Amino acid sequence: MPDQYLSHSQRIVVKLGSNIITAKNSLDLDVIESISDQISTLMDRGLEVILVSSGAQAAGLRKMGMKDRPTEMPKRQAIAAVGQIGLMKAYENSFEQKGKKVGQILLTAEDLNNRKRYLNARNTLNTLIEWKVVPIINENDTVMMEEIKLGDNDNLAAMITLLMDADFLFILTDIEGLYDKDPRQFPEAGLISRVTSFSKEVEDYAGHIPGTLGTGGMLSKIKAAKKVTSAGIPMIVAKGNIKNALLRIFEGESLGTYFVPKTKKLASRKCWIAHTLAPKGSLVIDDGAVRAVRENGKSLLPIGVVKVEGEFEQGAPVAFKTANNEIIGIGLVNYRSSDVDLIKGLKTFQIEACLGSKHYDEIIHRNNMVLKDLF
Ligand code: GLU
Repeated sequence: MPDQYLSHSQRIVVKLGSNIITAKNSLDLDVIESISDQISTLMDRGLEVILVSSGAQAAGLRKMGMKDRPTEMPKRQAIAAVGQIGLMKAYENSFEQKGKKVGQILLTAEDLNNRKRYLNARNTLNTLIEWKVVPIINENDTVMMEEIKLGDNDNLAAMITLLMDADFLFILTDIEGLYDKDPRQFPEAGLISRVTSFSKEVEDYAGHIPGTLGTGGMLSKIKAAKKVTSAGIPMIVAKGNIKNALLRIFEGESLGTYFVPKTKKLASRKCWIAHTLAPKGSLVIDDGAVRAVRENGKSLLPIGVVKVEGEFEQGAPVAFKTANNEIIGIGLVNYRSSDVDLIKGLKTFQIEACLGSKHYDEIIHRNNMVLKDLF
């Protein structure tokens, strides 16, 4: 059970879905009140809590008296702009009653992809936490285009969990957890209380449980769970609009679905490489190099590289794979693609003669690489 992780948790991320914080015609202030209450209690016990809250679009729709989410992007973005402000007002009022201040952070995929912005976001969040201010995060919907959206807040919450080195992720939604069927349609559906691996069966269960209001549904929760558990962090999906769900979990009650972490916790930098960056190209490596990086934890040297695919700059995230296209991992390259092409197959002492200078021995240093089994 998650108890050992709960008792060792110092920093947690709590994600709230649109469907639990919005009522028929407005925000559900009772739920917001109850969640702020629970978060304040946990903070007073010494925990650091980061909140990721959806609901801007749902709240905006209600405020504008619209029934359905508009399909056009600019309208959806305008709706989010209207709703976000009310959402934050509700949180601010509610936390104020418990003597807590809140800070708003709106993020985009670009912010998380760019190392400098990523570190800035992290520093800001750490400062808010130090000040005992509750950071409340949402995607910056107003500036996003569909194709570069983070997608859904389950994903955002997973990224924040990795970014902030949190110890536990809680996703609070409007159903009890992962079921083997959609419980809204099938009364006999059974709750799965523990997931240790992501079999096809688990994905199939999730695929049949769409979200009601937000964008995610159960499938995006499974994707989030994959990200965090593969980085060694546990996650629980539970129903958030029941009394004291979070506190009850901390008191040892078994609520929702518990996703068991796979490994020991990964360093945040490696999480960023594995989960945030999209590879800009790939390197085909030989069997010796596969063994060296996979079994012996070595860096990738020019001698092991057989072929370069795509164009990339120094520092770019690049995948490395076998000749049969089996991805072995991803890492940040020390040389741009045209240089890797020139030095591939060479011994390290030959790099300088080939390029005129040698800044690194490795194409990808082991500190800057993550192997596939970890993501
Ligand atoms: N950013 C969206 C909103 O606040 C939510 C996306 C989601 O529900 O996952 O409405």
